[in-house]
Amino acid sequence: MSDELNEADEAAEKRLEKGRLLFAQECEFLLGVAGLDQLPPDDAVEISFAGRSNVGKSSLLNALTGRNSLARTSNTPGRTQQINFFFLGKRDGLGLYLSDLPGYGYAKVSKSLVKEWTKLLKSYLQGRTNLRRAFVLVDARHGIKDSDREIMDLMDKSAVSYQVILTKADKMKKAEREKILEKTRAAIQKNVAAHPEVILTSSVKGEGIEELRASIAELAAGG
Ligand code: GDP
Repeated sequence: MSDELNEADEAAEKRLEKGRLLFAQECEFLLGVAGLDQLPPDDAVEISFAGRSNVGKSSLLNALTGRNSLARTSNTPGRTQQINFFFLGKRDGLGLYLSDLPGYGYAKVSKSLVKEWTKLLKSYLQGRTNLRRAFVLVDARHGIKDSDREIMDLMDKSAVSYQVILTKADKMKKAEREKILEKTRAAIQKNVAAHPEVILTSSVKGEGIEELRASIAELAAGG
């Protein structure tokens, strides 16, 4: 029994180590695109990050990559209507694209801007063949909102596999955390393209970051 336990521990540790190694590599900003004619090549796996403005997306990207200013934390939500691309790792080794989708759900954005953004997002989700998974970030205190639902429905329709990540876990009490995890799992049960596992994170405390790095390393390795 204890041998089995040790083996399980070792496998779990190895998995985390792969995540650490992947994210210990360089991560460079490539470009921001406002139209799909400007996309970088699709020669490596791509992972995408989506979420409402202010959900903590930039903070999470910075925590994952161990950098303070890779993705700029935004003071003016909803202003950037472009997809930012980063490359993590080496082109000829283990590496992948990270794409940072513009924050949505900001009330003060004009209708025409929302329309433009939806068009860009739709064509990106439907046309990006190397997109392996999109992470949909949701503020743990607020749970899934209508605007998150809209994007998740779009991903279901586009057959893009996605996973919900709850952010700002440090702002919640222990009992509340379990509740929101359960509630979120239940809320996505019927979404065909949703990964059933929900990850609770805190960019401030580092919670869930190692786990997320390990999951991304698995995806990068073709898992
Ligand atoms: P973005 O608009 O989604 O890129 O969100 P930001 O990363 O700019 O974060 C929005 C606000 O939430 C900022 O004031 C951050 O300091 C704060 N924030 C982000 N992540 C966390 C977290 O894990 N815990 C706490 N307590 N605050 C966070």
